[in-house]
Amino acid sequence: MLYDFHSHTFHSDGVLSPIELIRRASVKGYSAIGITDHIGVGSLARVIKEVSEDCEVARSHWNILAVPGVELTHLPPQAIDEIASRAKALGARIVIVHGETPVEPVEEGTNLAAVKSRHVDILAHPGHLTAKEAELAAKNGVFIEITSRRGHCAGNIEVAKAATKAGALMLLDSDAHDEDDILTEKKAREVLGQAGISSRKFKQILKDNPLKLLQKLRRYAQL
Ligand SMILES: [Zn+2]
Ligand SMILES: [Zn+2]
Repeated sequence: MLYDFHSHTFHSDGVLSPIELIRRASVKGYSAIGITDHIGVGSLARVIKEVSEDCEVARSHWNILAVPGVELTHLPPQAIDEIASRAKALGARIVIVHGETPVEPVEEGTNLAAVKSRHVDILAHPGHLTAKEAELAAKNGVFIEITSRRGHCAGNIEVAKAATKAGALMLLDSDAHDEDDILTEKKAREVLGQAGISSRKFKQILKDNPLKLLQKLRRYAQL
């Protein structure tokens, strides 16, 4: 049982089409995959519609829960809540926010805006996480991402420490841009170990928390 809620297709800077990426994940044994292309505002409706159609076909014919979503990227922090809400209204079933990673820095305040928004499901690669941000994430049910993506993963140790202390729920995502980025279970465990996370918590992060996220998503929309 493998889950991944953060991936990219040719609708942003990924390589494959949504349906091809879903198919590759399905073949690799994934139970669910989120398709979350980088997006601003102008193309929100078009990309959500196109990705949703591929996800729907995949869900009805293959044994994988394909979840159409977006990764809000480089938005002014003050606009994040409103645009996340708009994305959900347009049919995005999952909304993630591109956090303050050390390698592709977005505006300061992005992490805080993401964990404050009830329309945001995952704060991706936060880079760093203050105690206040981690507490808000726990309170508002925003999942905190541990990432295998090169560069972004430099923040994993600090992020995992802050999330654990505050009781915020963590997930592991690949942030896949191509087929080879999709994680195997072995690789997933390696990344968690490198993030300083105890092996006792692996099942929680790799299975229990993904199921909690899916439960939350299903409260708002059919999947
Ligand atoms: Zn990102
Ligand atoms: Zn991404």
